[in-house]
Amino acid sequence: MSGNLATVSYIGAIILFILSLGGLSNPETSRRGNLYGMIGMTIAVLATVFGPRVTAAGIPWIIGSMVVGGAIGLYAAKVVKMTQMPELVALMHSLVGLAACLVGFASYIDTSAPLAGAEKTIHELEIYIGILIGAVTFSGSLIAFGKLNGKIGGSPLLLPARHWLNLIGLLVVIWFGREFISANSISDGMTPLFVMTVIALLFGIHMVMAIGGADMPVVVSMLNSYSGWAAAATGFMLSNDLLIVVGALVGSSGAILSYIMCQAMNRNFISVIAGGFGTGGGTPAPKADGTAEPAGEVNPVLALETAELLKDAKSVIIVPGYGMAVAQAQHTVFEITKLLREKGVNVRFGIHPVAGRMPGHMNVLLAEAKVPYDIVFEMDELNEDFPDTDVAMVIGANDIVNPAAQDDPASPIAGMPVLEVWKAKTSIVMKRSMASGYAGVDNPLFYKENNRMLFGDAKKMLDEVLVVLKT
Ligand code: NDP
Repeated sequence: MSGNLATVSYIGAIILFILSLGGLSNPETSRRGNLYGMIGMTIAVLATVFGPRVTAAGIPWIIGSMVVGGAIGLYAAKVVKMTQMPELVALMHSLVGLAACLVGFASYIDTSAPLAGAEKTIHELEIYIGILIGAVTFSGSLIAFGKLNGKIGGSPLLLPARHWLNLIGLLVVIWFGREFISANSISDGMTPLFVMTVIALLFGIHMVMAIGGADMPVVVSMLNSYSGWAAAATGFMLSNDLLIVVGALVGSSGAILSYIMCQAMNRNFISVIAGGFGTGGGTPAPKADGTAEPAGEVNPVLALETAELLKDAKSVIIVPGYGMAVAQAQHTVFEITKLLREKGVNVRFGIHPVAGRMPGHMNVLLAEAKVPYDIVFEMDELNEDFPDTDVAMVIGANDIVNPAAQDDPASPIAGMPVLEVWKAKTSIVMKRSMASGYAGVDNPLFYKENNRMLFGDAKKMLDEVLVVLKT
């Protein structure tokens, strides 16, 4: 492939990636957005592999690696459960970081095209910064992976003088950066490069460990952004314009997403990143095994009574949360929705921006179940309607409907806007036990007089409700 054709292909791919991002911003156009992204990526890979910078001898190596990588990716995509998607995404981010580190070290030891003077300094700076961002992304994403799949606890690790530790780390990285740039040989430069990499890895671990469970959505989107900047840095190291542009697109869209998440949770970005946010007391939740006392009386109901309440309602708002993803209850929810709508009930869905375990999690599940987009609303669009709602049905959600966010300033989720389901005439919460949500705090909603608890797996309970509704 000629250099010109490769450049034109790159421009085509960049346009498709921009269209893809535009498409992904709305559930109705997201499938098309995905398609644009896939076509863009295919063009980008072909133009790179068969472009002028790859020699004929390199092609079998690249194809061989693609077959191995592609097979692993295909296998992972096939076996991963929908509930494991957030962890998988975190793992993917870590791979981008690792790639940036490996490319950085490879470019440093590559002597095939020696540079001199300013060009050499700029290239070494690219390597140093690229490995720095890559290492932070790599270790930070691995910790996020552990926190998302529950292997690492959600409570923040707060080392004494952690801000000083971070500052000292930064100063050491700058000092070794100077040593690296002024090194006279590759072996001299390796020591500062290694030291910086270790510090960056430790910083990534420390940064994510210090963030409280309730603030994880910001971390997930922030690491998404970092992975973009790591890719852009790789692009600089390899002088690949496409990678620079795509990395910048991912980096900036991830940064915008982090900002949106901060707004959705009423958090200050800097405070979240500095760590220790969301560490306040709050009332601990009773354990699932019943070893701790609940903070009040709850009103349990059965599927039969739930179905009766739904039948008699004129308006219903369904609030899905992480538990709906765990139970894979979205299809039954839609069956119930269709039945109720046929009976003239106004059924709408209320989506909290941080519901589930990744941005847009609930929208993806509802789209999969083919719930029409025009009955799916954002939290802000629906919150005022709860007082005029007969039944608010909460399916496996907890933190996003917790009134403590408004009433308890000591709560880890204090200040986070929530769906005010308790303002409906009756709220029904479907979950298996009195256990807490991701933030680990008790939910006073469960003890409210107008609230009913439908205990059990959401799919099983909804199946029972559906049977009653059909009779
Ligand atoms: P929560 O984690 O607060 O609550 C989910 C509830 O679902 C649990 O209390 C659990 O209770 C219940 N549940 C689990 N499995 C089932 C099942 N099979 N059937 C019925 N219920 C079930 O989820 P929310 O969606 O309310 O809130 C999201 C939380 O996750 C927030 O704290 C957010 O900050 C955090 N987060 C969000 C991310 C994002 O990007 N969206 C990323 C990382 C974290 P029980 O065990 O009793 O059944």
